[in-house]
Amino acid sequence: MHRKDFLGLLASPSISTKAMNQSQIFDSRENTNGSLMPLLFLGHGSPMNAIEENEFVQGFREAAKKIPRPKAILCISAHWETKGTFVTAMQNPPTIHDFGGFPKALVDVQYPAPGSPALAEETRKAIHNTKIELDNSWGLDHGAWSVLKHMYPEANIPVIQMSLDYTRKPQFHYELAKELSALRKSGVLIIGSGNMVHNLGMVAWDKLNQNFAFDWAEEASERMKSAIISGNHAPLINFQTQGKSFDLAIPTPEHFLPLLYILSLKQKDEDLNFFNDKALAGSLSMTSVKIG
Ligand code: ZN
Repeated sequence: MHRKDFLGLLASPSISTKAMNQSQIFDSRENTNGSLMPLLFLGHGSPMNAIEENEFVQGFREAAKKIPRPKAILCISAHWETKGTFVTAMQNPPTIHDFGGFPKALVDVQYPAPGSPALAEETRKAIHNTKIELDNSWGLDHGAWSVLKHMYPEANIPVIQMSLDYTRKPQFHYELAKELSALRKSGVLIIGSGNMVHNLGMVAWDKLNQNFAFDWAEEASERMKSAIISGNHAPLINFQTQGKSFDLAIPTPEHFLPLLYILSLKQKDEDLNFFNDKALAGSLSMTSVKIG
């Protein structure tokens, strides 16, 4: 099926339930009428958020309640870095416990959401900036399931992940994201999962659960939010040349890049709201963004 036909199929309000089922990424009870699905950047923080009850997981839950039920989810997680860009294409992605030293209760967590080979294929076809490869070896890492578990606990919405190509510059990621735009009209929720301020080497271990920020972390967070609100994304795309506070807040790019995907997809007239907007342990921020 050609991409245009597929997207037309997704957007058409008159489509039959039978045809919808054929596309694999549909919940036949839903119909988006071609309206744009909101976008989310989620500060996922510690993997322990998956099994803890706190203000942040409440924030994830509330965010899910405020948006239409997605037909499928595309997650760009900080925790899947590859050479080249991949999308998970398996029918049943395994839950990946990509961390060590955490309690058994966390290691036991399963998030058995189905995948969507059809959405993986559509994503591949939608992107022309670079070659997208279909992956059958990854699954859902904790950047995805630790937040989705709270948002959609029934794990009955198909989820695919898209990897971060670690060989590419930030501008590449920002441009690549624009090509995902059509998926929003198809009822696909695009989530970037990372943390805007994320320096594990400087965590204040004595203030682990406190909403405390070092001066540089607060400065970086405020500057990031100002740029997001203004719509001038240049300082965010060029985060590597913004001085000391950004250097400390973003010592490695992987937790920050998912934000660029979400901001790149924002249309001019769309609402933008912050939630979970709190610092943690000195060198982390949980600040999350809802667009649309
Ligand atoms: Zn992380």
